[in-house]
Amino acid sequence: MYCPFCSAQDTKVIDSRLVAEGSQVRRRRSCNECHERFTTFEAAELVMPRLIKSDGRREPFNDDKLLVGINRALEKRPVSIEDIESAVNKLKSTLRATGEREVESKMVGELVMELLKSLDKIAYIRFASVYRSFEDVKEFGEEIAKLDK
Ligand SMILES: [Zn+2]
Repeated sequence: MYCPFCSAQDTKVIDSRLVAEGSQVRRRRSCNECHERFTTFEAAELVMPRLIKSDGRREPFNDDKLLVGINRALEKRPVSIEDIESAVNKLKSTLRATGEREVESKMVGELVMELLKSLDKIAYIRFASVYRSFEDVKEFGEEIAKLDK
């Protein structure tokens, strides 16, 4: 990174260590031009990306909204809260791992479909029928047929 003192582009890391119980990396840097020293911290970005709706509107990622949809699909299905939570956490990790600041809300929908498919096939069909708004019975049948594979 550039030197904050003289804006030289050439700085070098002279020391690097883990801090905050390993959740951050602290680096001492030295500027090759002005020889000033400074410290940088590197930490994982834990902010969820914002969602881009199909009409282009942006909205913040909303856990509750996600859970409402998932729980509706899983209503009266034999799936434990623990399993749902761990699947949702996995989904959120996948979104964070994209490293994007914004993702298409469509992508979240696809991830929810994958999540439900692994949790409960009936819930998957319920969600898919609403989410994909199946155009005809044939398409719906094809989705169900895919499940049997
Ligand atoms: Zn400098």
